[in-house]
Amino acid sequence: MPDKPKYYLTTPIYYTNGLPHIGHTYSTIVCDTIRRYKRMRGYDAVMTTGTDEHGVNVERSAKKAGVPESEFVAKMAAEWRALWDELGVQGDEFIRTTDLKHAHTVQWLFKQCRDNGFVYPGHYTGQYCIYDNAYVDVMPGENCPDCGRPTETVTEANFYFKLSAFQKPLLDWYAKHPDFIQPEARRNEVLSFVEGGLRDLSITRTSVRWGIPVPGEEPHVFYVWFDALTAYLSAVGGPQYEKTGFFPADLHLVGKEIIRFHAVYWPAFLMAAGLPLPKQVWAHGWLLMDSAKMSKSLGNVVRPRPIVHVLGMDALRYYLLRETVFGQDGNFSYDALVQRYNSDLANGLGNLASRTTAMIEKNNGGKIPKPATFQPQDTALATKAQEAIGEVLEQYDKLGFSLALEEIWSLIAATDKYLTTEHPWSLGDSEADQQRRATILWTTAEVLRIVTALTHPVLPESTTKVWSLLGQPGQADSVALDGLRWGQLVPGTALGKSQALFPRIEKAEAIERMEAMEKEAQNAPSPVTTPAPASAPGASAAASAAAAQAAPEKIGIEDFAKVEMRVGQIKTAERIVGADKLLKLTVDIGTEIRQICAGIAQFYEPEKLIGRKVAVVVNLAPRKLRGVESNGMIVAASVGPEGRPVLAGFPDEDVEIGARLK
Ligand SMILES: [Zn+2]
Repeated sequence: MPDKPKYYLTTPIYYTNGLPHIGHTYSTIVCDTIRRYKRMRGYDAVMTTGTDEHGVNVERSAKKAGVPESEFVAKMAAEWRALWDELGVQGDEFIRTTDLKHAHTVQWLFKQCRDNGFVYPGHYTGQYCIYDNAYVDVMPGENCPDCGRPTETVTEANFYFKLSAFQKPLLDWYAKHPDFIQPEARRNEVLSFVEGGLRDLSITRTSVRWGIPVPGEEPHVFYVWFDALTAYLSAVGGPQYEKTGFFPADLHLVGKEIIRFHAVYWPAFLMAAGLPLPKQVWAHGWLLMDSAKMSKSLGNVVRPRPIVHVLGMDALRYYLLRETVFGQDGNFSYDALVQRYNSDLANGLGNLASRTTAMIEKNNGGKIPKPATFQPQDTALATKAQEAIGEVLEQYDKLGFSLALEEIWSLIAATDKYLTTEHPWSLGDSEADQQRRATILWTTAEVLRIVTALTHPVLPESTTKVWSLLGQPGQADSVALDGLRWGQLVPGTALGKSQALFPRIEKAEAIERMEAMEKEAQNAPSPVTTPAPASAPGASAAASAAAAQAAPEKIGIEDFAKVEMRVGQIKTAERIVGADKLLKLTVDIGTEIRQICAGIAQFYEPEKLIGRKVAVVVNLAPRKLRGVESNGMIVAASVGPEGRPVLAGFPDEDVEIGARLK
């Protein structure tokens, strides 16, 4: 068997000074999706991600946290790694710029550039933005034009990289490789930057201590970009890259704010060292929150963990790839996220999978039925599915995730419609009816199999479940997409065990839970300042961080005392027009009558609630649910996979209204 073609792709090497937000998550999920897709297309695809751990920011943050830099970055790197695991990201190489092999590679690359005459010593005085890790073109005293924060005047001895020598070689390269920079808008931006002339680049520092030393030139250490970009090389063999065969990268996936470093500096470093250049640099847009870029200073950062916790990792992956046209800016909103979850995942894929397999279970003893004669409507659906395969692969190849998913979901909608028209559930027990039903169910299950294989790169967790639910051999990721065709579903195959896929979720409640977790995360101390759990000497930082996560968090009695719960009595209860899950209650809590909304309308008749004594959280900040003010919260247990509410109460003894729960 011939060797599989190799494919190498990278996420940015993320700066460890902070924790991942949804922007980083987006880059990483896109990369993971491409990697999974390429593997299903027969490539030996390898993905590198990692953490950029040097620089003055880390020095300062570590000092603030009162720990050595090495400890600070080890804990941060462990956090990043753990999050990618939770999102199902299969990074092959997680490179840390504090890895020894990385230091060697940076030093080696520097030597190549210097031996070839592209490095010289000099002095530099300029305004430096420590937040962006870059000198910026402003006068002393002026703020950074990129982030608006104060700049510092820095004068120091350093080594320069002769970037100016690469203006023409770079322009020639872009001309010869029109697809090198994507999308078009970014390409134009880079072209005009390079055409405007390139200034030499300072690539070392003497003012910074926490960095990779320049051999024989101490106290010089390498400057952020020369250091960080080289991680793409050190991850796949460093100076011995030819042995692994993965370098140069087929794809560097980056956010648009760092396109210049990847499309100008990085290829120039490689040219100077006589190394091959990457095939493509793709810059995606930003995820905006109410049209503003997310940033810590604006306080509008969204973190992935609360979303994964409430809706599952596939929901986040699906939303990010479906909602935003790749390359353009996208908007993030919790509302749209839950909307997508309910309409596309719970009612779409999840519903198709559960009803199809339930009907096969009921009518065919849990085995894929054997189809009889195909009618034109069956063949029409088959044609649509077969065409979808080609179109989806074409879109994935172009990184057109949104259109690929749109195509798949249009096939799901067509299948739902087909089921409604053919209504196999109303067919009887006659021979003809049984045959017709078998044909319909086989056709539907075959669509489901194809949809599952096509969606796997985006929804790895749930499609793995559907795949085994359909009793298919191996894992969903072992499907060779090039061989995927209509008609491969084998009759007689026994279905696997049924499993919950995407339980429907009440929007207001889901958003509330995610926002509450997000707030909590924002107020939480950084993982580095949290006292580390006791661990055996020599235990790795990653292991101790994992241990810290495994232990459920305990709160002190003083934290619990912050929650004021009292016995209340429901005085009135009514339904809310347009909100079929909410009831509007008035509750006597002893000192006053409160208006409180509760998501219990589907399980409690309003009139039966009057007079009932309930537990009320009375010091919760008032908020609006579906436009109705709610001042407090009724405590209920959440039961079963659907989270059916059961009110907490006091059936055994008569308790006084307003009594505090402790
Ligand atoms: Zn700045």
